[in-house]
Amino acid sequence: MNIIVCIKQVPNTSEVKINPETKTLIRDGVESIINPDDKNALEAALELKDKTGAYVTVLSMGPMQAKDALLEALAMGADKAYLISDRKFGGSDTWATATILAAAIEKIGKFDLIICGRQAIDGDTAQVGPEIAEFLDIPQVTYAKKLELDGGKIRVKRFCEAKDYEFEVGLPALVTAIKELNTVRYPCVKGIFKVYNNEEDMIEVLTFDDIVVDASQIGIKGSPTNVH
Ligand code: FAD
Repeated sequence: MNIIVCIKQVPNTSEVKINPETKTLIRDGVESIINPDDKNALEAALELKDKTGAYVTVLSMGPMQAKDALLEALAMGADKAYLISDRKFGGSDTWATATILAAAIEKIGKFDLIICGRQAIDGDTAQVGPEIAEFLDIPQVTYAKKLELDGGKIRVKRFCEAKDYEFEVGLPALVTAIKELNTVRYPCVKGIFKVYNNEEDMIEVLTFDDIVVDASQIGIKGSPTNVH
C-alpha cells in the first residue's frame, strides 16, 4: 500500500502578518513548524504502516527551508520525501498550490491513499486537500476522526458540526485529518540517525521542469484569489 501525506511548513504563530505590497504572508524571523493537522495526517499514515507495512511518502510545496519539515517527518518514520520547490510556484493561492501538488503526486506515481491535514494554521482555508482530490478525480472524506483500512476500502468517521458521519470509500481516495484522529508520535533517535545519514537519498526536490503542469495555472498569475 502506498500512502502520500501532504505537509505544509507554517509559521509557529497565530499572529500572521501580511506584506502590504505583495499581500502574501511574512515568514521571515518566525520559527517554522509542521502544520499541526498535518502531523495527525502523518501519524495516521504511520499507524497504517505499522499495521500493514505501507510505504509512506511525504510531500511539501514551499521554499528550500521546508526541507526541515520533511526531515522531521522522515525521523518520525516516513520512507521518502519530496520537496516541490521552484520560484515559478511562488505566490500560488490554494487553486495553484493544489494544481502543483496534484501534478507532483501524478509524477510520483502509484498511490492508494492521500492524507492531508484539514487546515493550515496560516492560510486557514481547508481548501487544498479537497482541491487535490478533485484534480486527481478521486473520492474524498474530510474532517476524519477515525480511519481504518478494510481490504481495498477505508472506513472513515467524519466529525462535522458536532455530528459523526461514517463513510466507506474505495481506494484510491483522499482523507483530511483533524486532531481528534490520533496522538502524534515523536521522532525516535533511530529515525533521526537514519535521516541525517541518508538525507540526500531520502529527500528529492521536484521543480517546475520535473512535473507536468500548465504554467498559466500556477504562481501569482495562475491564482484566481485576490487578497484585499
Ligand atoms: P489549507 O487548504 O488550509 O491546507 C489544507 C491541507 O493541505 C494542509 O493541512 C496540508 O495537508 C495541505 N497543504 C496545504 N498547503 C500545502 C503545501 N504547500 N505543501 C503540502 N501540503 C499542503 N503561500 C506561500 O507559501 N507562498 C506564497 O508565495 C504564497 N502566495 C500567495 C498568494 C496569494 C494571492 C494567496 C491568496 C495566497 C498565497 N499563499 C502563499 C498562501 C497559499 O495560497 C496557501 O498557504 C496555500 O495555498 C495553502 O492554503 P492554506 O494555507 O489555506 O491551506
